[in-house]
Amino acid sequence: MKLKNRVLIVSSEMVPFAKTGGLADVTGALPLVLSTLGWEVRTIMPKYRVVAEGRFNLKNSLPKGSSISVPIGEKVEKGSLVETVLPESKVTSYFLVHPGFYDRDELYRDREKDGDYLDNDERFIFFARGTLEALKAMGWKPQVIHCNDWQTGLIPPLLKTVYSEDDFFQEVATLFSVHNLGYQGNFPPATLPKTGLNGNLFQPLGPLEFWGQVSFLKAGLVYADLINTVSQRYAQEIQSDPEYGLGMEGVLRARRDDLYGIINGIDYRIWNPETDSLIPYRYSRNDLSGKEKDKFELLKKARLPIPSRRVPLIGIISRLADQKGFDLIAEVIDQIMTLDLQLVLLGTGDEKYHLLFQKIRRKYPQKAGINLTFDNRLAHLIEAGADIFLMPSRYEPCGLNQLYSLRYGTIPVVRETGGLADTIQDYKPESGRGTGFVFRNYNSQEMLGAIKRALFLFQDRISWEKLMLKAMEEDFSWEKSAEKYIHLYQKAMAKNG
Ligand code: ADP
Repeated sequence: MKLKNRVLIVSSEMVPFAKTGGLADVTGALPLVLSTLGWEVRTIMPKYRVVAEGRFNLKNSLPKGSSISVPIGEKVEKGSLVETVLPESKVTSYFLVHPGFYDRDELYRDREKDGDYLDNDERFIFFARGTLEALKAMGWKPQVIHCNDWQTGLIPPLLKTVYSEDDFFQEVATLFSVHNLGYQGNFPPATLPKTGLNGNLFQPLGPLEFWGQVSFLKAGLVYADLINTVSQRYAQEIQSDPEYGLGMEGVLRARRDDLYGIINGIDYRIWNPETDSLIPYRYSRNDLSGKEKDKFELLKKARLPIPSRRVPLIGIISRLADQKGFDLIAEVIDQIMTLDLQLVLLGTGDEKYHLLFQKIRRKYPQKAGINLTFDNRLAHLIEAGADIFLMPSRYEPCGLNQLYSLRYGTIPVVRETGGLADTIQDYKPESGRGTGFVFRNYNSQEMLGAIKRALFLFQDRISWEKLMLKAMEEDFSWEKSAEKYIHLYQKAMAKNG
């Protein structure tokens, strides 16, 4: 029998185990599709508190008595490894166990201190190097290690330096996927000796140095065999414009021949109004009546009055961060709320936006339903129950919610940037072309203009339903994107072989 190609997907979060954002959706879905395309796929992530033993039927991967050792500066940290099978698949998912680092309430942030955990450097040094040690301990050698975001950024330099003479890792290639360049894993110089990497790499403008800090993201960008981001537009933007490159544009330009853009797919087993078990009423292109009922349920849940006539409902599901365009929304929120509409928001994030939306809830109790929590079930209900989905991002590597929205017939209003630009075309009333409402410049009046265009079309029920049906027909399933990933894996293997 022909041996299958082998890839290890390394990510700090993954659906269904732990999620704070789109990264988890992507690294939870891609392995399944790759394995249906004939690859042997395994995954690894930290064993956080939420990855509960009972829930996922975890078992030990290593023989009794053996452990995984990682030097962190002068000390040696010991951990272990457990595994399960990714539900509905043949994918083995490993979890690196180190209770001191990972058995905590949150993945990255200290709830009490409202800031990142102070030992995130050590937590993800342990994750990077522990992943390599875990492979050796198990004797499973992938041809490609697919790293994702800064938490895995030290894997490529470790392989190219500390482990370069190690027989086990000969001809192991790396792909580094950047899901958001805004999260860079930058730490003070004192972090360097903890990494085990040579101090020379930290010289000014060296591969690890970023404005006097040690950058795990830059390390991955410099050393990976190949790099990709999650849309073609974003791949272009981050090389050419400091607004998007956020200081990394020089590094990215230097690697432009190795930098690709692959749009994320959508897991339609999870995000599909025909089968979604998290919404009260299911619906399809053939029968939209469930959507109307979901809208009533959503209004009830959001404690908003149910209007006696057809009033458009705008949904927002988002991290409450500047990246997502909330400064634009803040600028014109009163103008928005005086329009004939209702709004449901679900999000957590920056304190200033929590305060803003608390104020909006008090000011417009009949019109604004505000939920400042993380609630997956409610996220599904908003996708199903809203008429319009607002996503005016300052930058957007790919964005998933606009794609979920399309499938749920919830028309996106987006800014023309990154993945939003690649996936949503502006609606043209003359031709009926387009799947949403798009504005170009990062400007609150332009955003307001796009919202108003959507509201105007909403009044014309027939045209609106036509647009809904067209949106629901769009197909962003994973297969196409997974094939592109396979192509990159093969390219990386060829480069390394
Ligand atoms: P990002 O990863 O930048 O936060 P994406 O649009 O790529 O943005 O993905 C966000 C994911 O997180 C989506 O699956 C979205 O539904 C989910 N999400 C964001 N905020 C919340 C929340 N407050 N409650 C539930 N799900 C959320």
